[in-house]
Amino acid sequence: MREFEFKGVRLPAEAVEERARVRAFLKAERDAGRYLPHLSSWSSFDPEFSKRASAEGFIGVTWPREYGGREQSSLTRFVITEEMLAQGAPCGAHWIADRQSGPQILRHGSERAKRDILPRIARGECYFGIGMSEPDSGSDLAAVRTRATRVDGGWVINGSKIWTTNAHVVHYLIALVRTSDMGEDRHGGLTQFIIDMSKPGVTARPIHDLGGNHEFNEVSFQDYFVPDDMMVGSEGQGWSMVTSELAFERSGPDRFLSDFQLLVGLVDRLGTSPERREAIEVGRLVAHLASLRRMSSSVAGLLDKGQSPNTQAALVKDMGTGFEREIPEIARRLVAIEPSRDRDDRFSESLADVLLRAPSFTLRGGTREILRSVIARGLGLR
Ligand SMILES: Cc1cc2nc3c(=O)[nH]c(=O)nc-3n(C[C@H](O)[C@H](O)[C@H](O)COP(=O)(O)OP(=O)(O)OC[C@H]3O[C@@H](n4cnc5c(N)ncnc54)[C@H](O)[C@@H]3O)c2cc1C
Repeated sequence: MREFEFKGVRLPAEAVEERARVRAFLKAERDAGRYLPHLSSWSSFDPEFSKRASAEGFIGVTWPREYGGREQSSLTRFVITEEMLAQGAPCGAHWIADRQSGPQILRHGSERAKRDILPRIARGECYFGIGMSEPDSGSDLAAVRTRATRVDGGWVINGSKIWTTNAHVVHYLIALVRTSDMGEDRHGGLTQFIIDMSKPGVTARPIHDLGGNHEFNEVSFQDYFVPDDMMVGSEGQGWSMVTSELAFERSGPDRFLSDFQLLVGLVDRLGTSPERREAIEVGRLVAHLASLRRMSSSVAGLLDKGQSPNTQAALVKDMGTGFEREIPEIARRLVAIEPSRDRDDRFSESLADVLLRAPSFTLRGGTREILRSVIARGLGLR
């Protein structure tokens, strides 16, 4: 069996300084009444917040200056995202663009895409969604059927995507589509394109989730034209790009801090003299959190060195989202309160909200079964 470890990383001085800056910014935001800590911080879409965060330089921090970045390390970005999530900041508008679409464009996009799009993302003005899943292709992404056909100067796309978060409010998607038939190599023939949601031929239809929220969409392409220079990477390279992108998508603090505010609420609720059983349960959660932080920051350190730690990232997501799902269950056991979104009690309301969202934590970004098969392969077990 292959082995790996999550080596501890020492935060560079600039990352430590950045933490103080983010904390001061978020405190000023709250003091000015601009936001109340959200439970689902990275799902809360607030463009005005994103613009203010950008003015402080908190978006696109690792990117080159010529594309609007600050050339800081992934560890500095780790600190910024960790603080934003822990304090329930509404960072959902710029989240996907900052976390994965921007880095993809930077690595594999055309010069026009880089010059036109990256500075706008860094300014907090331009938002992205992910167009991977299809009605018959979720875990098995190689089965994607949405088709791009070559035409003069570009490609014409037909087909549909599903569960596309925020497609109705973002400016662009990066979509994985088929540019040639599946041959002997199941993973061949797939290519990624930047889709401009303002152009004709692409429409988003709402799908409401368990809590009645509209975040998901079904996206349809009908003869949508995409120019050659909006291809990301080269033709047929889609699979390898999607898998390397997942190391960014799966390893961040967003995979264990989605409902951190509920843990904060639980600790407040239990007070300063909890019973022994309560102290043990909360102590266990906090110990898990510390381990997850170490794992996640360790992956950020590897990304900084240009590595693609896919196995470690899958482990962070599997364990992190399991942790996120445990918080509401433990809260329910320890606090005798009816979860309800209609009661005038913030803890009861938060609990109800998280209980409705929690099943999705272990689905989005790859289900636990799929992650475990990635981990088993990474360990040489299959
Ligand atoms: C909140 C949320 C947001 C999302 N946002 C987006 C988005 O923005 N863009 C996007 O493209 N997608 C998005 N998704 C879709 C998500 O990526 C898929 O739901 C996920 O990959 C699973 O695919 P599926 O729903 O088709 O389930 P299926 O692939 O049909 O899986 C059904 C069940 O079978 C299991 N299974 C499947 N294959 C195997 C296997 N080989 N071995 C063992 N078990 C297996 C799965 O683990 C699962 O339990 C989102 C999902 C959620 C919940």
